[in-house]
Amino acid sequence: MDRTVFYARGGGQPGDTGSLAWGAGQCRVADTFKSEGEIVHAVDPADLPPEVGATVTASLDWRRRHRLMRTHTALHALSGIVFTEYGAKVTGGNMDDDGSARMDFELEQLTSELGQQLQEMLNVRLSEDVEVRVGFLPRAVALADPDLIRTKVSLIPENVDPIRVIDITGIDKQADGGTHVRSTAEVGTVLVVKTESKGKGFRRIRIQLSEP
Ligand SMILES: [Zn+2]
Repeated sequence: MDRTVFYARGGGQPGDTGSLAWGAGQCRVADTFKSEGEIVHAVDPADLPPEVGATVTASLDWRRRHRLMRTHTALHALSGIVFTEYGAKVTGGNMDDDGSARMDFELEQLTSELGQQLQEMLNVRLSEDVEVRVGFLPRAVALADPDLIRTKVSLIPENVDPIRVIDITGIDKQADGGTHVRSTAEVGTVLVVKTESKGKGFRRIRIQLSEP
C-alpha cells in the first residue's frame, strides 16, 4: 500500500491486525511487518487480497491496538521510574496483545517487595494524567540529549534523521518508533505480576494491564 495506518512489528510491539475493504471486497489482515524496507500487510490465507491499484479502506482492530498503545506507554513509564529509583537501564522488553508485557533491567536486586513498590509508584504517576508527547529531533540534537543517550539513541541506524522521540513529561523520554496513548491516564491501572532473576545483574519485570 502507498500509505497505511497499520503498525508493523517493531521495538517489542506486535504488528497490527484489522481489515481492508474495497468495492464489494474485503479481507482480513492477520499481521503487519516490515520486509526489505516495505510494510507488509499479511492477508489471511482464507481471503483474497485486493487487486494492485485498488483503493482500499484500512480498518484496525482498534481495541487490540489501543490495548497495545496502553501497554507500550506503561512500559516506558515503568522504565523511567526504575531508572529514576534504581539507576537501572533497560536491556530488553516485549509486549503481547492481551495487555501483558515484560521488561528486562540491568539490576542486581529485585525482590517481590520492590516489585510491589514499583507497582504503586507506577500507578501513582500514571493516574496523574501526564501528557505523552511525540516529537522529532534532528539526529545531532538527539545524540546530545542525556535521556536519549541513556536509552542508547546512538544504536539507531545512522540514516535515521530526524529521530522520533516519545516524551512522557517528567517520567521517561526515549527514541521510539512505537504507538502510544496521549496521556498516562488512558493506560489505566497496571499490575506488577512477577519479578524474576534471569542471571547476574539481569532482572525481569512482568506487568499486566488490570483492564485489558
Ligand atoms: Zn517503546
